Amino acid sequence: MERQGNIKISSENMMPIIKKWLYSDKDIFLREIIANGIDAITKFKKLVELGEASAPEEEYCIKVSVDEKAKTLTVEDNGIGMTEEEVEKYITQIAFSGAADFVSKYEKANGDGIIGHFGLGFYSAYMVSEDIEIFTKSYRDESAVRWESDGESTYTISETDKAERGTKIVMHIAEEEKEFLKESEIRSLIQKYCSFMPYPIYLNFTGKDDKALNTTNPLYLKNPKDCTDEEYKEFYRSTFHDYNEPLFWVHLNMDYPFNLKGILYFPKVRRKVELDRGQVKLYCNQVFIADNIKEVIPEYLMLLNGVIDCPDIPLNVSRSFLQNDSQVKKITKHIVKKVADKLTALFKNEREKYETSWPDLANFIKFGCIKDEDFYDKVKDIIIYQNLSGEYHAITEYLGEKISDADAEAGKEPKTVYYTSDVVGQAQYVKLFKDAGLDAIVCDTFIDPHFISFIEYKEVGRVSFKRIDSDIDGALKEGDSTEEESKEIVELVKADLADRKLEVKAEKFKNANVPAIINVSEFMRRMNEMNSFYAMGEGQDEITLVVNLSCSVVQSLKDLPEEKRKLLSNQIYFLAILSYRKLTSEEMEEYTANNLALMQSYVG
Ligand code: ADP
Ligand code: MG
Repeated sequence: MERQGNIKISSENMMPIIKKWLYSDKDIFLREIIANGIDAITKFKKLVELGEASAPEEEYCIKVSVDEKAKTLTVEDNGIGMTEEEVEKYITQIAFSGAADFVSKYEKANGDGIIGHFGLGFYSAYMVSEDIEIFTKSYRDESAVRWESDGESTYTISETDKAERGTKIVMHIAEEEKEFLKESEIRSLIQKYCSFMPYPIYLNFTGKDDKALNTTNPLYLKNPKDCTDEEYKEFYRSTFHDYNEPLFWVHLNMDYPFNLKGILYFPKVRRKVELDRGQVKLYCNQVFIADNIKEVIPEYLMLLNGVIDCPDIPLNVSRSFLQNDSQVKKITKHIVKKVADKLTALFKNEREKYETSWPDLANFIKFGCIKDEDFYDKVKDIIIYQNLSGEYHAITEYLGEKISDADAEAGKEPKTVYYTSDVVGQAQYVKLFKDAGLDAIVCDTFIDPHFISFIEYKEVGRVSFKRIDSDIDGALKEGDSTEEESKEIVELVKADLADRKLEVKAEKFKNANVPAIINVSEFMRRMNEMNSFYAMGEGQDEITLVVNLSCSVVQSLKDLPEEKRKLLSNQIYFLAILSYRKLTSEEMEEYTANNLALMQSYVG
């Protein structure tokens, strides 16, 4: 006996709307259909546990099959099944009104989007099907049911002769969606969305040696104390296809006040110039929702690789709602705290490993601090910098006592901490520093210029960072030189280098073997760096040539005839520039010519 019915809610207009919104995300239909099968198995298993149904002999599983000729994609489960009455209620009423509900939520979301298009359910299969048949047999002693509809406004329902308990969904794939009839496509969709679903999923099941496409009991659900390092590494490899071992990981395992399971891995990213984007996959009860959801996971945590399963995050709401949801905020806070705790524990208990991992961690931590000041407060004591002897110290150890506002007004400056941005390029300065017993920290990653400004702002009054070529520290000098001592030499050098854009100064260095060095004020250099960062053009650094009165070559300038002196002044200039930066090709030519002329002046 066949009955026909009208789908109560008006669905004619829904499909174009849904298709438009979900265009890039149609794939989710397979997740929805398989997830329904999983739910049905879970329900049946509950009944067995309660003694309301007898335990089946066969394995609980989902079988997916594609038939290119018949143009069908079929998903079959051996779950609870449905009676005729239930099909009417759950499919014709609930599934369709669920879709209508989704559409209205989507309209309210105002283009804002709903994460992973969660909540559309059974109806989503109509995005790719022109017709769907359901064959289902309830665990109750009732006859099997066949339901069919093209998803528009009518459906038919009749008895059928399905013998086994469970539900089979046969999707007649629309002509323009043919890709969903390719086994490879379906395989990769199952791997993407269903890889942690709790019952085995088989594709084109043959009955022997079939392997499920999913892991039914993913590691992140286990109790951390039962997991071995090898298991963590294996889970990392298989989930992220990264054959570099992760540095370490944080296992999130919480039941109260919210349910949160997952593992966050710190990947090896060494020597990457840019921030490497990681991948944090969000799951809800083992169902994949989406990657890198910034409304749930702070942007900087997305530099990590991880899996987060949190059924307590409301997912069928708009993204902006999620952003302001207090529950989500608590969850995010918890994740951040766990990450900070892990890093702190490592710093305290495995200092050596922490230091060797630091180049991989540094960008993540620094970026995190800049983005989230709460994170900074949690990790500030474990941010380390290498000094000139290669030892690591926490940045907080370098800071001075905060100067009072009154002192600041009176012109007192916060403690100076010198840094080098390039140990090799700034080797001469480094040597001068070391010889004078001065120290500096190594700030050579691309994020350091931003990060040191951030520290100066967070720790205002306690530190002022200066690059080692920005001035001559008192410790490098043999006392202050008098006006008298320096005036003559400065005038001579200025005259000799009149064509060059620079300031000239003279100081008495402790080290007599360096004729001169270049200084660029920290403030000016930072301004220029910022301008070029914001693409406002690169300003010329205003450089100062500091000649060394302790150096006999410099002193000799006083006694040389003008022509020879000019050659020597230029030579001193080029030497200083060479220790400061690379020469341009024009300068290189000039330098070579000056060298030659200098030699010739000796040969006569
Ligand atoms: P949801 O899963 O969020 O309830 P769906 O639209 O996916 O919404 O499904 C609607 C209802 O149809 C389900 O709640 C369930 O009762 C029923 N249903 C769907 N698929 C199956 C299935 N494979 N086995 C048994 N019942 C199902
Ligand atoms: Mg569902």
